[in-house]
Amino acid sequence: MAASQAPVRAAGKRPGRQATDKKGGSLIERKLQHLGLHQPSDFIVHLPLRYEDETRIMPIASIQVGASAQVEGEIIRSEVQFRPRRQLHATIQDDTGQLALRWLNFYPSQQKQVEAGKRVRVRGEVRSGFGGYEIVHPKVSVAGMPLPTALTPVYPTTDGLSQLSLRKAIDGGLAVADLTDSLPGELCERYGLIPFADAIRTLHHPPANVSYADLIEREHPAWVRIKFDELLAQQLSLAAARAARRRQRAPALDGAQADLPERLMRSLPFSLTNAQARVVKEISQDLLRTFPMHRLLQGDVGSGKTIVAALAAAQAIASGCQVAMMAPTEILAEQHFHKLRAWLEPLGVELAWLSGSLSEKQRKPAFDKVASGQAQLIVGTTALIQEKVAFSRLGLVILDEQHRFGVGQRLELSRKGEESLGEQALIPHQLNMSATPIPRTLAMTFFADLDVSAIDELPPGRSPVLTKLIADARRDEVLGSVMAEVRQGRQAYWVCPLVEESEALQLQTAVDTHARLEQALPDMRVGLIHGKLPTAEKQLVMQDFREGRIDLLVATTVIEVGVDVPNASLMIIEHAERFGLAQLHQLRGRVGRGSNQSICVLMYQSPLSAIARQRLRAMYETADGFEIARRDLELRGPGEFLGVRQSGQALLRFASIETDARIAEQAREAVAELRDRYPDHAQAHMRRWMRNKQDFLRS
Ligand code: ADP
Ligand code: MG
Repeated sequence: MAASQAPVRAAGKRPGRQATDKKGGSLIERKLQHLGLHQPSDFIVHLPLRYEDETRIMPIASIQVGASAQVEGEIIRSEVQFRPRRQLHATIQDDTGQLALRWLNFYPSQQKQVEAGKRVRVRGEVRSGFGGYEIVHPKVSVAGMPLPTALTPVYPTTDGLSQLSLRKAIDGGLAVADLTDSLPGELCERYGLIPFADAIRTLHHPPANVSYADLIEREHPAWVRIKFDELLAQQLSLAAARAARRRQRAPALDGAQADLPERLMRSLPFSLTNAQARVVKEISQDLLRTFPMHRLLQGDVGSGKTIVAALAAAQAIASGCQVAMMAPTEILAEQHFHKLRAWLEPLGVELAWLSGSLSEKQRKPAFDKVASGQAQLIVGTTALIQEKVAFSRLGLVILDEQHRFGVGQRLELSRKGEESLGEQALIPHQLNMSATPIPRTLAMTFFADLDVSAIDELPPGRSPVLTKLIADARRDEVLGSVMAEVRQGRQAYWVCPLVEESEALQLQTAVDTHARLEQALPDMRVGLIHGKLPTAEKQLVMQDFREGRIDLLVATTVIEVGVDVPNASLMIIEHAERFGLAQLHQLRGRVGRGSNQSICVLMYQSPLSAIARQRLRAMYETADGFEIARRDLELRGPGEFLGVRQSGQALLRFASIETDARIAEQAREAVAELRDRYPDHAQAHMRRWMRNKQDFLRS
């Protein structure tokens, strides 16, 4: 490994010949560093995005629009034209035909290169221009130069770093880097993997006979090896993170007055489902341990996660610790606060509420209550992680709808807990909750450091929501069902269309819809709620709806997550085709919470795009959150599930979760063996693949 520690010099660089900036190091070196390329070991795994075939010259007559072409011939015309704007036009001719070349901006040297009478080789993408086929901004070189015998790699690069410089630097790295295999031969054999050095050499310098299609589709054995390595590295580091967590310490929440959870349980008007009871036990056991819990509680919408969280909180409080529960929206946080207060205050628990909309006057006493430890359960929005909030002894952190928070936010609450637990370097336990089920493959691949509990059963007495697809044109029918439902003493939601382009427009739509519905349904009490409403008003509207003083609630997607009003049994979603699957599933989950038959009407505007049609069909065909998540993954890719967009980190460069599930499974299988039997290999593998990537894994 020694060779890989030495910093690489950009290959082909002769000291003194390159532009050097004030900080030292050539411009090229700085550009390379910008790409994360510091050492030979970095260069070798900087792999091509694609390849160009420069191995042959094509007759002009055979070129095709949309494909790249390389031709050689004589320039028969070359002139600068001024209409419609200044540009350079040239025509190249070979034995089979002519081809137009065009530059929208150019240097005199380029103009000289293509003077009439010169023989040149040009390469670029062929398009269909006014006077026939043309190449805009072709690459030009002298005719007759020897042709490369292999495909030319094209690397991901950065502004101002040419492919040529990058290629040279990478070749320099390749020449000195350590290409020792980080996998024992036994493993390679079992999974049919080619040696690392072969894979790397093949990808940087594909041999002449390699299948272009396999290289491009990343199905060549060389790519398979690299993808395996990448997925394995990820699994190894997750396993390492898990091991590291076990070495951390957390307060054991084994409460002296541990009957608080029991008293809470006894006070409930319902008994737990088997699934709830199981996960409560799993969590309770985690909390007894002296290393921090890091658990994801998954449960479909309406499966009853809140009470599970409350019971965990009760155990922590009984052990003399504070608990913080953070929710992504104010409406949801407030609802939790109400619910938890109703459950826990009668048992003597002190609660505090923190949100961005607290007035200056309310804030100070709230902060004091939290800091002094008087408040035992603190519920709120991201206001919980404001700088001024200090906890007194925060032993358990609960994140609802965890995927809606960024990595930084998730870490921050835990960090505040660490601070509050004082000098003993204790870390709080963490419970993450999510109703967006993460498909199994994804959970295993990305959340291997999370223990996962799933509530796979709904409380008894719920009948499945009936889903109807209705074209927008049949709006009157929909109004009819609203009236029928309300006449029976039930309540309904009317979700306004999503307007992605503009929040203002979205708001306007909600206001308009409210006005129209009020007019169309004169005997009905129609309410309106949206994100821009002042908090106090939002609270009032939700309270009115909860307590039955509003029949029909017109809403934007602010009600998407968590809102729980069991008497609401009808959900209308306008322009359902604009929503994503996960969102539709969440919205539909707002009904079907009581014992009445609930209905969800998805109104859509024709014509539907193919993908919208598939989404609506999925909603119609299944109510199972996991099945919906699986289909969503198919339609949309994994980004959304992981919240990686928020974290801004691309996790996998080569493998893809959708198409490489089998390789991921094998890599996962190999982890334990590698760690137990080949620890040196495991370490070398991590060093090769996981430099500078540890942060994500901590959240
Ligand atoms: P979610 O998992 O979507 O957060 P909630 O925690 O909001 O679900 O629970 C949905 C509704 O079901 C709430 O009204 C809750 O009080 C109720 N509930 C939870 N558990 C049970 C149960 N075991 N039996 C009956 N009702 C329950
Ligand atoms: Mg919830």
